[in-house]
Amino acid sequence: MMYHVEYDIAAICVTLFITYYLIFKKGLGKHANRVYFILVLISFIAEISDVFGSLANNHPEYTNTFTQDFWNYLYLSTHNLMAFAFVVYLFYLLGYEKKKALFLVTIPYSVDLVLLVLNPAFHLLFYYDEKRTYLHGPAFPVIYVVAALYMIFAIYLSIRHWKKLGRNKAAALIFFLIISFIPTIIQMIFPLYLMSLFFESLGLMGILFSIENKDDVINPTTGILNRYALQDDLDVAMKEINSTLLLIKIPNLHHYNKMIGFENMNVILEQISKWLEEESGDSRCYDCGRGHFAVLCEDVAKSKIEDFQKNTFERFARPWVKGKISMIFPVQFGVIRLPEDTKNVENLFALIDTVFDGKDSCVLDVPKFISEYERRVLIENLIEKALRNKSFQVYYQPIYDVKSGKVHSAEALCRLIDEEHGMIPPDEFIPIAEQNGAILEIGKFVFEEVCRFYREGEIKDQGIKYLEVNLSVIQCMSRSLRITFDEILKWYSMDAGCINLEITESAAADNREVLFETIEKLKNSGFTFSLDDYGTGYSNISYMYEMPFSIIKIDRSILWKAIHPSNGEGEKNALIYMENTIRMLQEMGYKVLMEGVETGKQKEYLESIGCDYLQGFYFSKPIPGDAFEEYLRKINR
Ligand code: C2E
Ligand code: MG
Ligand code: MG
Repeated sequence: MMYHVEYDIAAICVTLFITYYLIFKKGLGKHANRVYFILVLISFIAEISDVFGSLANNHPEYTNTFTQDFWNYLYLSTHNLMAFAFVVYLFYLLGYEKKKALFLVTIPYSVDLVLLVLNPAFHLLFYYDEKRTYLHGPAFPVIYVVAALYMIFAIYLSIRHWKKLGRNKAAALIFFLIISFIPTIIQMIFPLYLMSLFFESLGLMGILFSIENKDDVINPTTGILNRYALQDDLDVAMKEINSTLLLIKIPNLHHYNKMIGFENMNVILEQISKWLEEESGDSRCYDCGRGHFAVLCEDVAKSKIEDFQKNTFERFARPWVKGKISMIFPVQFGVIRLPEDTKNVENLFALIDTVFDGKDSCVLDVPKFISEYERRVLIENLIEKALRNKSFQVYYQPIYDVKSGKVHSAEALCRLIDEEHGMIPPDEFIPIAEQNGAILEIGKFVFEEVCRFYREGEIKDQGIKYLEVNLSVIQCMSRSLRITFDEILKWYSMDAGCINLEITESAAADNREVLFETIEKLKNSGFTFSLDDYGTGYSNISYMYEMPFSIIKIDRSILWKAIHPSNGEGEKNALIYMENTIRMLQEMGYKVLMEGVETGKQKEYLESIGCDYLQGFYFSKPIPGDAFEEYLRKINR
């Protein structure tokens, strides 16, 4: 009876290859799962002991009983430990926390251990005959049953958590299980062919390349882990207590890239990564791109974090050197305690990715950022909900014509009112809608609602010549805007002259070419234009000439500096500036509208200097369509 160890020798080669790959593949060693590492180590010991044990069993004449026993016991205890360790590995991948479950899975392996401990006395697993031939005892099948139990449980876990593991991971795990299961059965029938460890090592290699291979998680520039690795690790860290994520950001990296060139900057980033790795000891460091680094610390004392912060500021106060280039960067340091500060990985990535401008080193206010970000996500959801339910509302604010003493138009202002969260001010939701693109749909909704109101209501008969609709810069950048508007006008059989489009100064300053093109097209359709919030910045007179504005709306800040609504007072120069601005614009051929008129004094003064139109709370706040009709019935009678 001779055991064949050729498969075991092949298994040793495969396992050595895996070990080499884990240790020498740059950056991988630090990231690869510790449990996987242990699994590989156990399989290596099992393979070695299987070879030596089998050789001792084949040729007992060359060894003594102690040596033969040593290898056989070592083999049996390690080989079955693999099955157990594999289930622990799966728990780890799934981020399983339940201590009770972990305890339960140790039970089958404990049975093996009890049998092994009792074996010298009862020979239940194996024994030797008088020629020291190795023979199986009556309880040997228990070892197979225990292994099978673990395998079946592992298959069950992989299938049950298929989604959570991700398709690739789950498929690789099932591959490992099947590949190690088949030869185990063959070996039960032909016990002399020791193939199971070889197939198991192949399975481990499969896992190495599909789960543990972190080629795609290493940042090629700095050689440390990237954001994908961080994402994986955060999933696990969020479930553990006492993790801390440190953020180390160099603000405005693009600026330094321009200054010293990409290649030099990359070398410096590599130096920074190396420094961080040294400083962080056992904790993992990540390069999340754009000069944003993170360090994930598990169970690290508060004082250590404070030291880390102090050392970081100290290091960044000294220059980073590449050849003749010597640079000092500001650094922003953030400390996020998990899971107290946030339970949401998405929040964390927003925090990691956000570029906080700044020229000086500083500590980031993490709780403030997170609450602002959460508010932002809430608003985004409310916008989406309002678009889905068509629950945006349009309010109208009258515009008073000084010459006729009547309300001759109104500005349409969008309202987002949520049952639970109340009114969300446009100053809050419009910028968010501009950033995520929802403004295009909101703009379309408002335009259509305004057309419907103009067409179906009675305001034309009450002397309203046109309605003003605000256009966002994002809408102006859309080449299909004119088609959309024209279609809606056609649908309501309306003339474009009934709508005046308001464009803000900042929008007007953004991208001249596309903006001009859009305005030109809209002008050809018959729309007229107002320049909104004149005087709030970006003032560029040359744009104003080139665009077909007929009305300039002066921002209320100019009026309020000249005549404050609360006390009626103002600065002398502000008054001179306001008067001259109005006169200048009128001389240039524009009609001038003053925003934010709140008091009778302001109204009278503006009338006295000949301002064309007035808008503000003095006349009315923005009100719903029916209330506006009611208002007109009283005012324009
Ligand atoms: P805006 O176009 O300058 O609109 C005038 C804002 O001033 C309105 O604020 C209005 O309620 C407010 N206002 C008017 N008179 C007075 C006054 O006498 N005193 C004070 N304190 N405020 C006055 P609202 O409705 O909160 O809108 C804010 C901004 O949101 C608007 O500024 C506009 O830029 C934007 N917005 C509103 N609706 C839309 C829309 O449908 N589309 C786009 N793109 N932007 C919109
Ligand atoms: Mg406006
Ligand atoms: Mg305005």
